[in-house]
Amino acid sequence: METIFSSIVQRDPQEKEFHQAVQEVMQSVRPVLDRNPEFRRQAVMERITEPERVIMFRVPWNDDQGQVHVNRGFRVEMNSAIGPYKGGLRFHPSVTLSIIKFLAFEQVFKNSLTTLSMGGGKGGSDFNPKGRSDGEVMRFCQNFMAELQRHIGSNTDIPAGDIGVGSREIGYLFGMYKKLRNEFTGVLTGKSLDWGGSLIRPESTGYGMVYFAAEMLAIREQTLEGRTCLVSGSGNVAQFAVEKILELGGRVVTLSDSSGYVFDEEGLDRDKLAYVMHLKNIRRGRIREYAGKYPRAVYVEVDPELDHNPLWAHHADCAFPCATQNEINEKDAQNLVNSGVSLVCEGANMPSTPGAVKVFLDNRILYGPGKAANAGGVAVSGLEMAQNSMRLHWPREEVDQRLQQIMKRIHRTCLNSAAEYGLEGNYLAGANIAGFVKVVNAMLDQGLV
Ligand code: NDP
Repeated sequence: METIFSSIVQRDPQEKEFHQAVQEVMQSVRPVLDRNPEFRRQAVMERITEPERVIMFRVPWNDDQGQVHVNRGFRVEMNSAIGPYKGGLRFHPSVTLSIIKFLAFEQVFKNSLTTLSMGGGKGGSDFNPKGRSDGEVMRFCQNFMAELQRHIGSNTDIPAGDIGVGSREIGYLFGMYKKLRNEFTGVLTGKSLDWGGSLIRPESTGYGMVYFAAEMLAIREQTLEGRTCLVSGSGNVAQFAVEKILELGGRVVTLSDSSGYVFDEEGLDRDKLAYVMHLKNIRRGRIREYAGKYPRAVYVEVDPELDHNPLWAHHADCAFPCATQNEINEKDAQNLVNSGVSLVCEGANMPSTPGAVKVFLDNRILYGPGKAANAGGVAVSGLEMAQNSMRLHWPREEVDQRLQQIMKRIHRTCLNSAAEYGLEGNYLAGANIAGFVKVVNAMLDQGLV
């Protein structure tokens, strides 16, 4: 394993996030390889860590003043052993090939866990939609799709949203695909309801994560009722996580964005959440404005040079990181443990550093890793694809019920797979092992391709 890992690092030394994701999976699946010597002969680890295809392209576009800008577009088609590539698009200035490769790699295992027929992929651009007009975002999306359309299709690769790609961007991307290919198909998920979207898709990642957390608590005969929760982020995942936590009787006291966070000791309620949704989704404002609207809440600007994020030092029972990768470091994890948190459930992808994860596991915190806990989003994307193929719409209750069943099943699969290898209660090992075994078996069935 060490040799394989060092050759991955040597081949692409700058891809730190990708190495982090690979290392975590390698540690978890070591006992699987020990039990199956054939996997080594078949070089499954080397094959699963090498993308089937990497697409990188130039995206030129005009701003409102006529100035030309150039961004870089990516699509990493990681693995198609169990279905067409599926995974979101991220538009954020921090996007690099390493970030997209780590997200695509994670997506392979996550999609496998959903039990739906979806391979793993991810894409995006270093384009920053923040502060851009609708016209600028539209022109960028159109030029991005002008190239991407050659590589995707409803049976090949089906992108969706992620950070910086919401319903507005999906609309512009879909419109351009339809024009260029002259076909109306379910090539993207996260579409608006009137033209092929699924009910519950916007809510699915946040709701699904909270369903997963409720299952974890139920093992200890606990519920979310009356529990104080720290939530980070204030985008799609965070908003619907808060909605579901409130519905289940929890108390949410924080929300954040990339500049800082708000702490509201009174807790959010439905009206305050409606304000946040309007602020972030319609006005595209900053979370600091929350403290202006609700003066008993405080806004704390977070210094990126600080060795910890004070958001994670507040007294609470549960923590739900829903912003971005590596937002909880070892010190933050220790602060969470010290302030009484007994459950950490990840809405974001890889929000905890390896040091933080170790702190959670050493302290027997109920730890739900993103690739299992946030799989509800891609699961409902899979349900959107099914509805598109049948050209019909399932009612809200039906999709929500299917989502709950899927999250329960993923939770059970994680526990069973961990127990099979003597790692009782380790959701991280369970998620990696279950996701890995299914994909590897499919790869072996299909021969060396
Ligand atoms: P949004 O763009 O809707 O929201 C992202 C939120 O995270 C914003 O509040 C944003 O603040 C904050 N954020 C982004 N980058 C950083 C950063 N570098 N540091 C601190 N805060 C940051 O994205 P989503 O809610 O869709 O995604 C959030 C996370 O959930 C991501 O990790 C994503 O990969 C994951 N995820 C999303 C799914 C989905 O269905 N949408 C599915 C599965 C996982 P600001 O406004 O300042 O940028």
